[in-house]
Amino acid sequence: MKSQYKFLSYYNTIRYFLKDKGIQFNAAGTHLLADTSRKQHVQDFQFIVAIILNQQSRNYNVEKSMKNLKQNIHLDAYNVSKMDMKTFAKYLDGITYGGKKSDQIIQTAQILINEFNGQVPTDPKELKKLKGFGKNSIELYLKREENKQSKHITLTPKTLLFLLRTQIIAGQEISIYKDQAQLTNPEIQNYLQTFIDPILWKTLHIPIDLFVDEVCQEENPKCQECPLRDKCPTFQVNSMSSQDSSDLFSES
Ligand code: SF4
Repeated sequence: MKSQYKFLSYYNTIRYFLKDKGIQFNAAGTHLLADTSRKQHVQDFQFIVAIILNQQSRNYNVEKSMKNLKQNIHLDAYNVSKMDMKTFAKYLDGITYGGKKSDQIIQTAQILINEFNGQVPTDPKELKKLKGFGKNSIELYLKREENKQSKHITLTPKTLLFLLRTQIIAGQEISIYKDQAQLTNPEIQNYLQTFIDPILWKTLHIPIDLFVDEVCQEENPKCQECPLRDKCPTFQVNSMSSQDSSDLFSES
């Protein structure tokens, strides 16, 4: 089977598996993905809002709140700069210090309109002027800017391990996942990019990461309950070798 079909088939199986288990993969970072149908400055502002809401709050609650905001108001700096705290806060759901954060977001929108012509700056000194935006928030924002420029498929060791175990990446030793340098290996990057768009990957990897955390763990993967076990070459090889050794024991 061609790699892209194999990947898609695994991906769909993972999505259904997570859905059946009630695992909210939408709540694992998708709120950090702005509405890409909007102009760039609106996307940047939405990312700022998500970062402020995310402080000391659960991803799931931020996800719900971002959805409420995007569905009910024009979530851009111009519109938010004219809102009052109570109106903004009523769209938040389960956010710690929701009132204070609403206030910070409105003030941030006003600063962006008055000082930066509605654009989110990229200079850390200027980002520091935004309300509720400390060192970690600035780092997170700049990281996203960096990722936007990147043409890479961002891999973590555990995702790389999964791609190797399932042989979506074939012909490589499993042990390479332990080597950080392999995460940007040009050969692997080029190969993956023949069938995965790096921009789409920013969303695609979310259910895969959850699946890896839940099932295909680095140590002791839960192959017996894995929905991919019938297709997974690592599982087939492991079960054949355990079958061989039990045959050996039964012969002796
Ligand atoms: S069968 Fe095992 S090794 Fe293969 S994907 Fe599932 S958990 Fe991972």
